[in-house]
Amino acid sequence: MKYKVGFGYDLHRLIKGKKFILGGINIPSGIGMKAHSDGDVLLHAVSDAILGAIGSYDIGQLFPDSKKENKSLNSEVILRKAYSLMKNKGFSLCNIDTVLLLEKPKLSKYKNRIIINISKILKIGKDRINLKAKTQEGLGLIGKQAAVAAFAVVLVERK
Ligand code: MG
Repeated sequence: MKYKVGFGYDLHRLIKGKKFILGGINIPSGIGMKAHSDGDVLLHAVSDAILGAIGSYDIGQLFPDSKKENKSLNSEVILRKAYSLMKNKGFSLCNIDTVLLLEKPKLSKYKNRIIINISKILKIGKDRINLKAKTQEGLGLIGKQAAVAAFAVVLVERK
């Protein structure tokens, strides 16, 4: 098969006193992700989408939260691992589309930095990465700012 798609999803709880990191960018916020790693839902969803496309497990299997060395893990390490597995299997990345579900903060100021950071890690142009942020209109756990979630789809091409 020349082209394959992959889909990824992630959610983390939000609590006081934690960092709010999305796409590897630290965003000032009174609350942040409760997680074994740094809780970067966006990089986790993108990483899982890449792994899904190439049929290589998922990030929980590659970086189990039962392992001490994965504590407070920088999620860029996870994305780099997904990227290298993809390359080793002979695929290249066509494009990534993502949806973030969060109530606050507004991401407009940070979107460009997030996209640039992901484009550097994955060695693709900014124009191949899309990021959309949606609120939940105050409804449910995400609407009440108790959680943040992300969806990602990727298309990969066999070289
Ligand atoms: Mg996660």
